[in-house]
Amino acid sequence: MRYSELLLPTLKEDPAEAEVVSHRLLLRAGFIRKLTSGVYSYLPLGLAAIRKVERIVREEMNRAGAQELLLPMVQPGELWKESGRWEKYGRELLRFFDRHGRESCLGPTHEEVITDLVRMNVHSYRDLPLNLYQIQTKFRDEIRPRFGLMRGREFIMKDGYSFDVDEAGAEETYRKMFEAYQRIFTRCGLEFRAVEADTGTIGGKFSHEFMVLADTGEDVIVACRGCGYAANLEKAAGPEPEAGREEPLALEKVATPGKKTVEEVCGFLGIRPERLVKTMVYIADGKPVAAMVRGDHEVQEVKLANILSAVELRLATDEEISAHTGAPAGFLGPVGLSIPVVADREVMAMANFVTGAGEADAHLKNVNPGRDFSPAASGDIRTVTAADRCPECGAGFDFLKGIEVGHIFKLGTSYSEAMNARFLDRDGKEKHFVMGCYGIGVSRIVAAAIEQNHDGDGIVFPLPIAPFQVALLNLAVKDGEVSRAAEKLYDELIAAGIEVLYDDRDERAGIKFKDADLIGLPYRLVLGRKFLETREVEARTRRGEEFTLPFEEAAQLLAARIEAELEAISSR
Ligand code: ATP
Ligand code: MG
Repeated sequence: MRYSELLLPTLKEDPAEAEVVSHRLLLRAGFIRKLTSGVYSYLPLGLAAIRKVERIVREEMNRAGAQELLLPMVQPGELWKESGRWEKYGRELLRFFDRHGRESCLGPTHEEVITDLVRMNVHSYRDLPLNLYQIQTKFRDEIRPRFGLMRGREFIMKDGYSFDVDEAGAEETYRKMFEAYQRIFTRCGLEFRAVEADTGTIGGKFSHEFMVLADTGEDVIVACRGCGYAANLEKAAGPEPEAGREEPLALEKVATPGKKTVEEVCGFLGIRPERLVKTMVYIADGKPVAAMVRGDHEVQEVKLANILSAVELRLATDEEISAHTGAPAGFLGPVGLSIPVVADREVMAMANFVTGAGEADAHLKNVNPGRDFSPAASGDIRTVTAADRCPECGAGFDFLKGIEVGHIFKLGTSYSEAMNARFLDRDGKEKHFVMGCYGIGVSRIVAAAIEQNHDGDGIVFPLPIAPFQVALLNLAVKDGEVSRAAEKLYDELIAAGIEVLYDDRDERAGIKFKDADLIGLPYRLVLGRKFLETREVEARTRRGEEFTLPFEEAAQLLAARIEAELEAISSR
């Protein structure tokens, strides 16, 4: 591609609206332009990077036995009513009426559509397993679209769905997808980790998120320092607590005037936060519920929602708290409480702790579960902390930042049951398909790659997903001989299978160097007047390694180098 013919509107200044590096650089390097909130046009270089990612995704999905198809973006509301998600999905689902008054929506994901397709067209175990995927524009009316391609409302996703005859088959498909994902992100040249993710109310270990490690990531990954255990913060758990052997003491009410926070109460009573249990009121699907965790712990809302099978969970307001409990916030406790209580498993293992007394300016000492209150449910409902130990090996945790670029999930029969999608099994019985779903944020990968790979001058693209592999800079376009050599080299590079962006603009060298650094192509070749004496091409990687190539062999040598580098990245 010739730079002079390319739509590549680079910017000198940092755009004010961009808060994160990838957003800033994607705008500055002329890869994307915003149309409206969370909706972007992909300009030629932006699209080229996306296509590179797509190609890797396709190759690995196909290799793993999946087939590509393309489903409609407009979906009938009816299907979503069948699955039960019309009510549950919330406002990320953009709904509208067509001219006949039929409820419709723009696809944020395609479980309903694919389940419908398969139930209509696949009837026998002989046609299974089946693994189908597409690469398509999705629409989600995100509350806070931000960070450019990282969290758009319109974005490109690869979504795949598998159909198996039974659990064992579904688990085997899951394993294949896990491997395919590892290959995909490795081949993209990204530093990533697969982490255990929340499985909602389904449970088990069949949900993994693939996280690109970057300090700017929104997700927190809990990674064991000793073994391979890694989970996202919503899911990570410490080891099962052991119950102490303290004898229960007599319950005692103490005055704690104006002491509300854990710190204030502990300071006033002279106890450590581990001896206090706080009681928080939540509204779960419209109903109040109290959650109890140790004073130095925090409630993990995803875990709490799972225990309650709640779709919507939020903290209660102070007014709601006093209306439902009769006690002011800061003095809540489980004793005598009329709303259901969920206690963290750690609390269940404690004895003689302090809680609010359920009335203003008082706390209770020597509270004991079982004797003084009975929770409606208990389990792990707290976030792990730096003090926790790995449940697998007992070593400490690291807390890393990451960007979720992929998610695989065993769905089981939740959709096939809701939508009555069945096949005839070998034993002559009708059974529900056992499903899995597998997403990759294709456009987000480009942003994540930049978050992970950039410097003060611009993007530092990983070779496999760079929009072009090489920038060829002609620094003397007015010089006939240099230009003839540059044109020849351009042709030879293309003939050698190299993707090259040829800067043939009549611009100063400084500008060409700056733009090349900003765009971040992995290799830069330079031809200027010096070439007339040396007959050599000056080469430099975007990471700063310099070398020269004899003109006549430049294309071949570079092609070999690129191939070797791609090979090395794939086999990491
Ligand atoms: P998140 O927690 O970031 O909102 P999600 O759990 O909603 O993600 P999935 O429904 O699993 O995401 O979608 C599959 C993949 O699509 C994600 O792993 C992510 O890479 C990508 N993705 C999701 N939402 C967006 C978005 N708003 N913009 C860009 N990519 C997205
Ligand atoms: Mg989301």
